[in-house]
Amino acid sequence: MQRDVMEYDVVIVGGGPAGLSTACRIKQLAEEAGTELSVCLVEKGSEVGAHILSGAVIEDRALAELFPDWKEMGAPLNTPVKGDEVYFLTSNEKAVKTPHFAIPKPMHNDGNYIVSLGNVSRWLGEQAENLGVEIYPGFSAAEYILEDGVIKGIITGDMGVAADGSHKDSYMPGMELRAKYTVFAEGCRGHLGKQLIAEYKLDEGKDPQ
Ligand SMILES: Cc1cc2nc3c(=O)[nH]c(=O)nc-3n(C[C@H](O)[C@H](O)[C@H](O)COP(=O)(O)OP(=O)(O)OC[C@H]3O[C@@H](n4cnc5c(N)ncnc54)[C@H](O)[C@@H]3O)c2cc1C
Repeated sequence: MQRDVMEYDVVIVGGGPAGLSTACRIKQLAEEAGTELSVCLVEKGSEVGAHILSGAVIEDRALAELFPDWKEMGAPLNTPVKGDEVYFLTSNEKAVKTPHFAIPKPMHNDGNYIVSLGNVSRWLGEQAENLGVEIYPGFSAAEYILEDGVIKGIITGDMGVAADGSHKDSYMPGMELRAKYTVFAEGCRGHLGKQLIAEYKLDEGKDPQ
């Protein structure tokens, strides 16, 4: 089967907060070093943010490291947390409010923001594109390319395949996206991640995820 082949310096699988931040940071570092790096990101959702579980309370520390002026840049973190209340449910009808001092520190949200993580991801996607990252929404990484024990990129899923596996008229074989570095940022249950964990025994002697 003849596949289109495209070559990049870096291919990133997954357009969630991790993949998009990686893409932005690589481009920032390349810019600082006065060099050109080609970075491509594939996201299986129809658009960046489409598959991101939305409601979240987030800390802005990592975002501030990536974009110190995120506020002026218009990042969609618009609702600061004004208060936290934790209740202990004693029955179907009754609850006791836990005093502030008794709540463990990681559960305090002072200074955090209530966001749509989908919108934050969309915004990160825009910043990545502004920095020159090529983003391909609607493209899933179906398999990785493994040659001589080294990951050489990914193959995107075939298009135009019927439910019974037959090829429709619109059939198009997936593309080979080859790269010097491939970053897997599929989230915690990515199907390629699972294969890679087995392939390279990444979980050997580790606690389960
Ligand atoms: C119920 C719940 C509530 C949460 N609440 C909070 C909260 O309040 N605050 C907080 O900070 N965090 C929260 N989190 C955690 C937060 O959602 C994750 O830490 C964060 O989304 C991880 O980002 P990620 O980029 O690693 O992965 P993900 O956000 O999972 O992104 C992975 C992306 O990769 C894409 N993808 C996957 N496989 C492929 C493939 N093969 N090819 C192409 N694309 C692919 C997916 O479509 C997705 O867009 C919550 C999580 C859950 C489940």
